[in-house]
Amino acid sequence: ELYNKILELKGNIRVFCRCRPLNFEEIEAGVSTGINVESAKSGEVIVMSNGFPKKSFKFDSVFGPNASQADVFEDTAPFATSVIDGYNVCIFAYGQTGTGKTFTMEGTQHDRGVNYRTLENLFQIIKERENRYNYEISVSVLEVYNEQIRDLLASQSASAPKRFEIRQVSEGNHHVPGLVEAPVKSIDEVWDVLKTGSNARAVGKTSANEHSSRSHCIHCVMVKGENLLNGECTKSKLWLVDLAGSERVAKTEVQGERLKETQNINKSLSALGDVIFALANKSSHIPFRNSKLTHLLQDSLGGDSKTLMFVQISPNENDQSETLCSLNFASRVR
Ligand code: ADP
Ligand code: MG
Repeated sequence: ELYNKILELKGNIRVFCRCRPLNFEEIEAGVSTGINVESAKSGEVIVMSNGFPKKSFKFDSVFGPNASQADVFEDTAPFATSVIDGYNVCIFAYGQTGTGKTFTMEGTQHDRGVNYRTLENLFQIIKERENRYNYEISVSVLEVYNEQIRDLLASQSASAPKRFEIRQVSEGNHHVPGLVEAPVKSIDEVWDVLKTGSNARAVGKTSANEHSSRSHCIHCVMVKGENLLNGECTKSKLWLVDLAGSERVAKTEVQGERLKETQNINKSLSALGDVIFALANKSSHIPFRNSKLTHLLQDSLGGDSKTLMFVQISPNENDQSETLCSLNFASRVR
């Protein structure tokens, strides 16, 4: 409750920065660390050049290479779980491919990320409140690739992929007819749904990893709540978005399909930046319609919804120009 008051005072957009550790190959190759997150408590990230500070950025939270999934979730939970109190929430992971977007959102089987931990926490809250509230939770898993929506929970038998449209049902209420909404009653059921989704993502792709860096993977958690004392009902959505890689691809290097993909990624990531920037600046026109992604998430961006962006970065000094791009993008929306 108090936390929600503080949020209202500070506005509803937060940016967290997370820097992955150097990986085995990088350590073997002796690459240098170009990032200093020692002052994590102050929310500061310093980009280093030849051992000297080059540029510094400030965020709402900063997680260094040693931060655990639990540390990250501790700061994320107040946002994510406020969906149960009727708030619409969007959580994004933004950054260059290989910086840990999927690690933060999905995690690994033994070191689970924000998606799983959020649902686990929601089921705990439901249990604590069972005498006062009744809740129903359902989950959709989809991907946006080349400005097209694909349902990752739909049966894969259909020969031709279904085309999904975003429809406005009423003011502030958009809907994608035909999208599977899987009801979940326990955390075990959630794990099955998440696995079905990630398996479907890989189906028919030459390289699942490459494909995942070029599409946005989206989980939508829908919560219906009923206050048993006064009969009041709430309906809200939490979007958990593992964005396509933000790395710049020189247009001269790609052609055909790859060029179209690249243009679509650039278009949707910059549309997302424009929307959040316009919201942060209380602009009168918010350009939701400029991409499928922002159109889809429209109801949960702005108003009294909450937005949290993870900007994921690499510690590798050789990645520094991409790191600077990501940090600049993130400071623009903050
Ligand atoms: P992205 O989704 O941004 O392309 P990944 O999440 O796939 O990046 O991360 C790339 C690799 O780095 C994976 O093997 C992942 O497990 C590892 N990794 C990323 N972040 C961390 C972290 N904070 N701690 C440990 N390993 C990490
Ligand atoms: Mg990924």
